[in-house]
Amino acid sequence: MAMQMHPQAGETCMICGQVKQTGIHICNQLICDSCQKKIVETDVTDWKYRHYVNKLSRLQLKVTEQSEQTNNG
Ligand SMILES: [Zn+2]
Repeated sequence: MAMQMHPQAGETCMICGQVKQTGIHICNQLICDSCQKKIVETDVTDWKYRHYVNKLSRLQLKVTEQSEQTNNG
């Protein structure tokens, strides 16, 4: 098992654009803990919620494109 080690690792959160070390990965994109909370706490009627959903929906488009090209069963 080859694990890539990244000293001072971190990934850029797709929501806030800051480099974070923890969070969840969706489609190879990181959503940091704080942004997860924001999304959860954001009322669906809040315009910010649409902002998040809009970002997430872009990912789904990417996934669709990838799944059409790669077929790993
Ligand atoms: Zn974030």
